[in-house]
Amino acid sequence: MISTENKLPVMEAFYTLQGEGFHAGRAAYFIRLGGCDVGCVWCDVKESWDAEIHPKISISQIVADASQHNGRLAVITGGEPLMYNLDELTTALKEAGFQTNIETSGAHPMSGHWDWVCFSPKKFKEAHPSIFEQANELKVIVYNKSDFKFAEKYAKLVNKDCQLLLQPEWSKKDTMQPLIVEYIKQNPQWRISLQTHKYLDIP
Ligand code: SF4
Repeated sequence: MISTENKLPVMEAFYTLQGEGFHAGRAAYFIRLGGCDVGCVWCDVKESWDAEIHPKISISQIVADASQHNGRLAVITGGEPLMYNLDELTTALKEAGFQTNIETSGAHPMSGHWDWVCFSPKKFKEAHPSIFEQANELKVIVYNKSDFKFAEKYAKLVNKDCQLLLQPEWSKKDTMQPLIVEYIKQNPQWRISLQTHKYLDIP
C-alpha cells in the first residue's frame, strides 16, 4: 500500500452528474485541482489558475471525502490536473473502488492510472505528445469557425479508437451549435457534446 499523505491543491470537490462528453449523464465525484498555466481567454474557472490560493489536501482525505457518496466514478479536472503527478491519487482512488476519469488539456506529460482520458486540447498551449496514445476521447471546444480545423489537426494525432467530440463554448453556443450540427452531418465521425449541467443548472 502506497503512502497517501502527499497533498494536492483542491479548489473544490463535489458530487453531481457529469454534464458533458462521452460519460454525460452519469453520477460523478469531481475533484477540481488548483493550478493552470494554459491561459484560455474564455476559461470559466479562472479562479483555478493560482494553485497557491487553494488548500492542499492529503490524498487519503480526498479519497475519504469521495467515498462518502454512492457513485464510484471520480473525475479529476482543473485547472490543469496534469501539472501534478497523479499516480498516487489514482492508485488510491482505484483501491477505494473508483473508476478514474480525467479531463485535461494535455499540456503536461501524462501521469496516473486512468479508466478514461478526456483530452481537450487548447490553442493557448500545445499538447504534450504523451497523451495521444492514451486519449479515449478528444473533446474540442468550438469558440469560432477556425476551431474545426484545430479539431481535425488533433483528430489526426490521437489513436484510432479515440472518440471525437465537438462542444460549443457556452457563451458562443447560439452561433456555434448550428455550425457544429452541420459539420457533423458532413463529417459523421464526430459527435456533439453539450454542457447539460449548465442547462440543468447543477454544478
Ligand atoms: Fe481554464 Fe481549462 Fe483553459 Fe486552464 S485549460 S485556462 S482551466 S479552460
